[in-house]
Amino acid sequence: MSVNIPRGTQDILPGTVEKWQRLERIATDICRTYQYKEIRTPIFEHTELFQRNVGNTTDIVQKEMYTFTDRGDRSLTLRPEGTAAVVRSFVENKMYGDPNQPVKLYYNGPMFRYERPQSGRYRQFVQFGVEAIGSEDPAIDAEVLSLVMDIYRAAGLKKIELVVNSLGDQESRQAHREALINHFEPQIGEFCEDCQSRLEKNPLRILDCKKDREHELMKTAPSILDYLNDYSRTYFEKVQSYLTALDIPFTIDPTLVRGLDYYNHTAFEIMSSAEGFGAITTLCGGGRYNGLVSQMGGPDAPGIGFAFSMERLLAAIEAEGVEWQTDDRLDCYLVSVGEKAKDYTVKLLHDLRLEGIEAERDYQNRKVKAQFKAADRVQARFVAVLGEDELEQNKINLKDMETGEQEEIPLDELTSTLLKKLEAK
Ligand code: AMP
Repeated sequence: MSVNIPRGTQDILPGTVEKWQRLERIATDICRTYQYKEIRTPIFEHTELFQRNVGNTTDIVQKEMYTFTDRGDRSLTLRPEGTAAVVRSFVENKMYGDPNQPVKLYYNGPMFRYERPQSGRYRQFVQFGVEAIGSEDPAIDAEVLSLVMDIYRAAGLKKIELVVNSLGDQESRQAHREALINHFEPQIGEFCEDCQSRLEKNPLRILDCKKDREHELMKTAPSILDYLNDYSRTYFEKVQSYLTALDIPFTIDPTLVRGLDYYNHTAFEIMSSAEGFGAITTLCGGGRYNGLVSQMGGPDAPGIGFAFSMERLLAAIEAEGVEWQTDDRLDCYLVSVGEKAKDYTVKLLHDLRLEGIEAERDYQNRKVKAQFKAADRVQARFVAVLGEDELEQNKINLKDMETGEQEEIPLDELTSTLLKKLEAK
């Protein structure tokens, strides 16, 4: 009996994987220009890390984690998001002691959430994210936003919308929290069970509820923006002015609260407005998390970051019909005639590859004609043909497949000739 792939996961096969690689290159190149360095953390962490830091009242922690007990009776969880682990690592490795502050990091790797699979929603998905930890300068908020917008622009996306909000600082949030409780309490019986339990624990979460989205109280709920204290308001205004200076268009949505507990001040999402993108339009989410580092036992270092999934970025690219300039043509295919020549191509092929030439030969014992066909299938720019006679005379026949031109060259000049010709293409 055959075993199929688990629900909500996917194989990324050759042909598609090149698109992933291209996007990863774009994202990492841009991170380099912005001076963000890569960090790799484990795929699983202690369950507590997420319970305590992502938040016990969030959907992620309550319903979506892949949690298991290992043979040593420890509760471990496949990471559902990246920030908690990066901050853990920041604290554990005392990165706050680095004279280069803020510490600017990016990650790229699989995350796991037990969600209902649908278009754009997987149980294993790849998040690319950045974290800037150690600065509370609104300019760093703008930098992080500009970084992700640059990635999307370089990937070819045009139909994207940035939505920002401020969740304020502790004091502002406390005032807003009380206002929310007063607002929802009289009619909380009309809300779902989750919302009822959220009322005291974390009323902000009610605004994020999918079931009660249409309830009239949702539309009239007190806006956080009316509860921002002076510091929070000024901070938010500064972020906006930097975004304007950077020519990054945005809209403000006071109902944007994000699904994780650790956010404060700047919160944002980027949506795709491409037709046919599907029901889930969020491409990227992020925000500021002052307090998370100290909560994990580090100093009072503020932080900000975002994460987007490669799956949704790819879907947005497809929905917008962006042209891919993938160049997967082979540089040179070695055709051999006769046993001796065939043996010789083992070493010859390696010589080409050592010089960075993308090269291939036949491993199926094909006849000459079939070897040429194989060269066509991989769109070889050049085909080098080696027969017994050529081998004896230390020569090889080189054919330019675009122009049809052929020439006989000394065997030991194949690499240098190819390098010259490929450079000229
Ligand atoms: P979140 O951590 O929930 O704010 O998610 C941040 C980003 O990760 C989203 O904007 C999506 O791009 C992506 N994402 C979250 N959950 C999934 C999922 N189940 N499948 C694919 N992408 C996801």
